[in-house]
Amino acid sequence: MIIDVDKIPKEGLSVSRDFEFLNADLVEENAEFLEPTHVEAVVRRLGQEVWIKGKLSARVSFICSRCLVPYEFPVEASFDLVYLPEEMDLLKEELDEDDIGRVFYHNNQIDLGEVILEQVNLTFPLKPLCSEECGGICAVCGQIRRQGNCACLVKEEDPRLMKLKNFLREKE
Ligand SMILES: [Zn+2]
Ligand SMILES: [Zn+2]
Repeated sequence: MIIDVDKIPKEGLSVSRDFEFLNADLVEENAEFLEPTHVEAVVRRLGQEVWIKGKLSARVSFICSRCLVPYEFPVEASFDLVYLPEEMDLLKEELDEDDIGRVFYHNNQIDLGEVILEQVNLTFPLKPLCSEECGGICAVCGQIRRQGNCACLVKEEDPRLMKLKNFLREKE
């Protein structure tokens, strides 16, 4: 969805729609969209500045980096962005500190899809985990721990060992 900066109405442009992005456009490898990305946003123009404010939601499937089981990741984000015309890019050094995080549009156009996709990617965790407590995969037998403990794990929890552990803990 290309927004023509010159055509943004005075009262702002309200956007309420679904974006269909490609899985290949996601920064996380193996991530897949389970539903399109829904966006509610308002695009306003103040002089040459373009303000894009709103929220997005989607559902994405990730592969857990510990147990390798796919899990659902709900994407929810709000954004409040300011775009400046690219000519301002050349004046960057003269902009004050608040402007550093600002982005630029080119040829008087903004690709809203691109903007949204970037925001979606920004919500992703560095390391996808099905849960913080994910026990991963048993190195001995390959059992996925969240699907049940394997014999190797039971061995680790040998009652005699537990007794020893408790004993050591009490001594501390
Ligand atoms: Zn996991
Ligand atoms: Zn095991």
